[in-house]
Amino acid sequence: MKRNLFDLTKEELEEYFLNIGEKKFKATQVYEWLYQKKEFNIANFSNIKKEIQTKLSNDFSLDLIKIVKKQEDNLTEKYLFKLLDDNYIEAVVMHHDYGNSICVSSQVGCNMGCKFCASGKLKKVRNLEAYEIVEQILVIEQDLNIRIKSVVIMGIGEPLDNYDNIIRFIKIINDAKGLAIGARHITLSTSGLIPKIYELSKLPLQINLAISLHAPNNELRNKLMPVNKVYNIEALIQAIKDYLSVTSRRVTIEYVMLDNVNDSLECALELAKLLKGLNIYVNLIPYNETNSGDFKRSSRNKIMAFYDTLKKAGINCTTRREFGSNIDAACGQLRGSMNKI
Ligand code: SAH
Ligand code: SF4
Repeated sequence: MKRNLFDLTKEELEEYFLNIGEKKFKATQVYEWLYQKKEFNIANFSNIKKEIQTKLSNDFSLDLIKIVKKQEDNLTEKYLFKLLDDNYIEAVVMHHDYGNSICVSSQVGCNMGCKFCASGKLKKVRNLEAYEIVEQILVIEQDLNIRIKSVVIMGIGEPLDNYDNIIRFIKIINDAKGLAIGARHITLSTSGLIPKIYELSKLPLQINLAISLHAPNNELRNKLMPVNKVYNIEALIQAIKDYLSVTSRRVTIEYVMLDNVNDSLECALELAKLLKGLNIYVNLIPYNETNSGDFKRSSRNKIMAFYDTLKKAGINCTTRREFGSNIDAACGQLRGSMNKI
C-alpha cells in the first residue's frame, strides 16, 4: 500500500527527495502546498516539475478520512470520521474568543479502561497513524473554512500508548512550513504512562502536558483508573516532579468531578497535600454523564467548594468551561454515540 503523504515529517520528505536525486528544498515546497495553500492535488503543485509530480503520485496517496456525521451548537462542532479501513473516530472543534481549538483522537478505542470514560468502553482496535490525526485537523479546517490555532490530544485513546505516531503528528503540525501550530498551543493528555512521560521529557518539544489524576490516593484511583495498579500515584508524582525539573513546560492536573466519588472536601485537602509545592495547576472538569449512568456530575456548588479549598491551600486551580456538554461533545466522552448510527 502507498504511504499517505500527510504521514511524513518534513525531514522524511527531504530524505525522500534526496534519495530520488532531487534537492531537499522540494520538501518545503510540497509542505507549503499541503499545509499552507491547502492544495491536495499533486497535479496542481505548479512549482514541481511534471516528472516529479508523477513520481510523487506513484509513491504516495493523499486519501482523506471522511466526515460521516457532524453535530453542532454555537460553540462546538463534533465530527464523526470514517477511516479508510472503515473504523470510526471523533474530533471536536471549540470556538473560543482567542481562536479555534480542536480535540483530536489518537487511537480507535482505548485499552486503559477508566470506569467513567465512554472512550474506554471500547477496547483499542488499533493505533491511529500520524496522517489520520493530521487529517482530523485538515478536513475540519476545510469543512468549516477556518484555521485551527490550538490542539488538545484528548479525544479517543491514550496518546502515550501510541507514542511514535503522536510524536510524528506533533512534528508535522508544529513545523513552520507545516500547519505551524506552536508547541505552546499543543496539549497532550495522558492517564499516566510513566516510562513514556520520561521519554517525552527528553524531547526538545515545548508542548503542554496534562495528567489525568482524578483521585488523591491509590485506593480511589485504583477503582477509577486501572492504570494506577501499574503506575501508582507516588510514582506518577515523582515522574511529574522529574518532568518539571528537566523541562520548563507547564503541567496541568486534570481532575474530573464525580458526584460523591472524588469531590469531598477531604479529597480536596488530600489533593492539595499531594500537589503542594509543585509547579502545576489543577483543572477541575465537570463530568459529562455517559449513557452507562454509573457516575453523576458533581453539583456546581460542590465544584466551587472543592475549588475554594484547593485555592486556600495554595494550589492553582481552574474549572473547565463546559463546552459541548449539551451535545455530549466534550473531549473524553467521544465515541459513545457512534454505535448508534
Ligand atoms: N487518554 C487520555 C486522553 C483522552 S481523555 C487521558 O485519559 O488523559 C481526556 C480527558 O477527559 C481525561 O482527563 C479524561 O479523564 C477525561 N474524561 C473522560 N471521560 C469524561 C467524561 N465523561 N466527562 C468529562 N471528562 C472525561
Ligand atoms: Fe482511555 Fe483516557 Fe478514557 Fe481513560 S480517560 S479510558 S485513558 S481515553
